[in-house]
Formats: sequence, structure tokens, C-alpha cells
Amino acid sequence: MRVAAFALDGRQSWGVVAYGEIRDACSLPDAPANILQLLVRGNHESYLRRVSEDARPVSPNRVRFTTPVSAPPSDPIALGLNYRKHLVEAAQATKQESRPKRPILFSKAASSIVGPDDVIRVDPAVTGQVDWEVELVIVISKEGRDIPAAHAIDHVFGYTIANDVSARDLQFADAGQWYRGKSLDTFCPIGPWIVTRDELGDASGLAISLKVNGVEKQLGSTSEMIFSIPEILESCSQGRTLRPGDLILTGTPDGVGFTRTPPEFLADGDFVTAEIERIGRLENRVLVGRFP
Ligand code: MG
Repeated sequence: MRVAAFALDGRQSWGVVAYGEIRDACSLPDAPANILQLLVRGNHESYLRRVSEDARPVSPNRVRFTTPVSAPPSDPIALGLNYRKHLVEAAQATKQESRPKRPILFSKAASSIVGPDDVIRVDPAVTGQVDWEVELVIVISKEGRDIPAAHAIDHVFGYTIANDVSARDLQFADAGQWYRGKSLDTFCPIGPWIVTRDELGDASGLAISLKVNGVEKQLGSTSEMIFSIPEILESCSQGRTLRPGDLILTGTPDGVGFTRTPPEFLADGDFVTAEIERIGRLENRVLVGRFP
């Protein structure tokens, strides 16, 4: 199933996208307020079946899709250097990286999350080097700590797409951590919806790409990940509880801007399209200017 959040008739709702229409979960009297509450409540499989059968159908052109999980319980976890060719291009550009022995984990501020069609807003007084990174996102369904890789997939609700927008000038000025350069407001577009694990099946071997103004910048496969999804979940949950609605960004393939010759960065008016096979397309325009 495709589980989406959306604005409809001036209110925020969520539901299931199928067969050219959307089922509005909030038309049911006992509906959780949002996708996060659906996961917190538990037993989401049977509730989603009910939504797809009993909830009111709505035409997709009446809704505006919003980010599926706008307020996760923790800052999203992200992986650095998890695709082989991206590791090589980053090593050549920075002359310092080597193959990680375990997943490199960092986080992005939850306050940086925006949705599909939202603007990536760049304040030129803060950064002049804004880069793109398309990523597969894992959405957690079930609480767990010290999750072994063999059972990790049971904790996955589904998958969506992120653009791990990165201010490279801030990132590389901060030795040893990337939080500031990765967490500016609007720097974490996520969407357009979540494709559930039972629908997507194996999330390896999916084409993953990013275009700027229609020009292909990144094109890879999720099978190029250095650490697999079960290994990522085992690592992220070591001594740390993952909770329903937590988000994990699994790294980006090669083709980012800062490793290009000459380096490329996003500019005012650029239109960025992040796409993953069998999940969908996440589109955002860049706006350079001081925040109102
Ligand atoms: Mg990234």
C-alpha cells in the first residue's frame, strides 16, 4: 500500500493511495490523527485494510501531498558514505575517507523536514554551497532495541524518499560532525508517500536517481549500499531504542555536487527531482533568499 499524508479542504489528513484515488482515513470516526499515530497505536496492517475498503474516496487532484511523518519521535538518523561509488568520489574530493568498518551514523534535525512540492529555502547569509543527496528512507513500525539483523525487517513499516540537502561549506567547516550543515530549515524533504514493506518487498536493487532541472545528476541502485538495511537497523538500534515513526536515511549514490569538477551547487529556481523505482518521485524547488 501507498500511505500518504495530505492537505484536503483546509485540513490535514492521511490515507491510502490506490487505483487512481485516495481513501481519506480521517473520514472514519476512530481514525488516528496521522500516520505516526497509526504506527504508535499498533496493528496498522488491519487498520490500513479498513481504510482502503471503508474510508471515503477522494480524487487525487483535490489534495496536496505533505510529508508522511512530519514530527518523528527522534531526529532522523542518516548514514554517511553508504554507497561504494559515492565513497570513492567523496574520498577523491576530500582526500581523507576510507571504507567504513561500521555504518557512519549522524542525524538531521527533525525541524528540517518538509514535504513534496515544498520549497528548499537557502539563506545566502548562512550558506553558499547547497548540495543534493537522494536517499531511500526506512520508516520504523515497531519499537525495538538491540535488534539483530536477522529480525530487523520486522521493524520496518515501509520506505519513502528523502533529499538529504547539505550545506557543504558548513559541513566541512565543522570537523568531525555534520549536524549543522545537514539540519537547516527545509533541508530534509521527505515523501511523496510511504510504500509499505509488504507491497515493496525487497528494497535492494531499486533504481535511485536525482535530477536538477531535468538533468540527471545521480543514478544508482540500492543494491550498491555498503551496509544492507538489516545491518543498518542492527547498528542504529544498538543500545538505543528505535520507536514507531523513526526515520533512517540510508545514504546516497554517487553524483553529488561537491565532488564534481568544477563543483556544482543548487541555485535559485532550481527544480530538484529525487526518484526511487517503485516508490515514486519527490520534487522540490530551490528558493534563495532571506527567510521572512
Ligand atoms: Mg546523505
